[in-house]
Amino acid sequence: MLERTGVPTEEDLAKVIPPEERRKRGPYAVFECFQRIPCDPCYPACKAGAVKPFDDINDLPVVDLDKCNGCGACVAACPGLAVFVVDETFSETEALVKMPYEFLPLPEPGETVGCLDREGREVCSGRVVRTVKGKDKMATPVVWVAFPKASCHSVRHIALRRGVA
Ligand code: SF4
Ligand code: SF4
Repeated sequence: MLERTGVPTEEDLAKVIPPEERRKRGPYAVFECFQRIPCDPCYPACKAGAVKPFDDINDLPVVDLDKCNGCGACVAACPGLAVFVVDETFSETEALVKMPYEFLPLPEPGETVGCLDREGREVCSGRVVRTVKGKDKMATPVVWVAFPKASCHSVRHIALRRGVA
């Protein structure tokens, strides 16, 4: 599935979504990086030491979620747009996801957006909380989006609604 469509399976995702006990403790990174390729910018980006050193640059990242503070530096550093930070403790009803966003214009804080799943289907509406451009011009902008908690493991992209009646 992943090789043909770029969409991970439930089995793939089960390997990277942490157990409920960790999810309840605060924001955590989800590395949806499933293919061995020569790539490792997530390792130096993580100043918390949560991404373990790579023995081989083709290795998949290994993350210690007890060290992860949800800062999102790895989201901005990943050229594969494969990393997300999920915060299920954001509010009683909403989760916050920090997601890479490589399009212009960037969304503005307070803007209502469509929240899309990994296959591009809109599953709910969301609210942009913050847009972080980063000082490094190689960094990918990161958009913080709040939306109903039940969709926190399916929403991975947004669509702007500007100009949509
Ligand atoms: S979110 Fe921050 S602390 Fe967690 S793995 Fe990414 S860079 Fe490290
Ligand atoms: S930077 Fe992104 S694509 Fe590269 S190894 Fe890390 S998570 Fe995977």
